[in-house]
Amino acid sequence: MSVDLRSDTVTRPTPGMRLAMAEAEVGDDVYREDPTVRALEEHAAGLLGHQAALFVPSGTMGNFCALRAGAPVGTEIIADTEAHIVTYELGGLAALGGVQTRTLTGLADTLELAAVEAQLRAFPGGGTYNMVRTSVLAVENTRARDGGLVWPLERLDALRAITSAAGVALHCDGARLWNAAVAQDIPPRRLGEMFSTLSVCLSKGLGAPVGSLVVGDTDHVERAREWRKRLGGGMRQAGVLAAAGLYALSHHVARLADDHRRAGELARTLAAAAPGRVDPERTETNMVLLDVPDAGAFAARAAADGVLVGAAGPAKVRIVTHLDVDDDAIAHAGKVLAPLLADLPAVAA
Ligand SMILES: *Cc1c(COP(=O)(O)O)cnc(C)c1O
Repeated sequence: MSVDLRSDTVTRPTPGMRLAMAEAEVGDDVYREDPTVRALEEHAAGLLGHQAALFVPSGTMGNFCALRAGAPVGTEIIADTEAHIVTYELGGLAALGGVQTRTLTGLADTLELAAVEAQLRAFPGGGTYNMVRTSVLAVENTRARDGGLVWPLERLDALRAITSAAGVALHCDGARLWNAAVAQDIPPRRLGEMFSTLSVCLSKGLGAPVGSLVVGDTDHVERAREWRKRLGGGMRQAGVLAAAGLYALSHHVARLADDHRRAGELARTLAAAAPGRVDPERTETNMVLLDVPDAGAFAARAAADGVLVGAAGPAKVRIVTHLDVDDDAIAHAGKVLAPLLADLPAVAA
């Protein structure tokens, strides 16, 4: 048995999803004539409590279009030091957008809100000729590099109040927003409405083969549409892809709870085998992080036994549950990984 737990991006479209794709009505979406793309955009906008949405090929492009549409050249976007937009998007905001990124450590948890507030420099009335202006504060929910942790609602609500008072837009990299909503048992709209813009993925836990959405008000999404085209992301008969996304939104959101339960079970199994190397309390959604001496070597040993895991850092292994792994697969992964972990030197208490 081989189990691929490297990422929730490895899922393949299910038979029902493929059928929806095959039957999709399509047209030229650059002419705005693809009815399935339009249906997906309207559905997603409504789900998240916004006026409009835009279908884009990837989360990276979604973040770029949403952020760049709200951040003029020479302004700054503030994000957490560990943010995907800072770490894993090839510096696109600087390379292609002429926008500076400034990072804050602990934005998601340890940093006092007053300290965050003190960093925002929007200058709504003008009045500076040399300080870079903050246009957007970006958060990520769930937090990919922190093992899928969910933002507490109170902290998000407080950030919303601070940013709107300061005249700074609030963006959410919601690649796994659906996981956050399911984990907190709240409608996605509750998480959508508080942001100026969002980028949400269909190709992670939801299991669609391709695609993300930019969500926001109509003007903002129109500007994002220009950026999408400028980047070469205008797609033609994209309804075959949008159909997968629509299918995923109706069939694969509630089941994320299964992924979360399985990740929790695996975390507890592994914590019992090797205390101190995994903290089940920090498995809130579909990820488990393991502290090991050498992540590459650990991943190679696991792969030799048929379990694929990711190296999230030199000493950090990441395991992700998803649509294509069931209870048997997780039980098997536990049987393979527990002895490998137990073989490592004990962690000092
Ligand atoms: C996956 C991911 C993205 C976007 O990724 P693409 O591979 O470009 O679709 C953005 N943010 C986070 C947090 C992600 O996990």
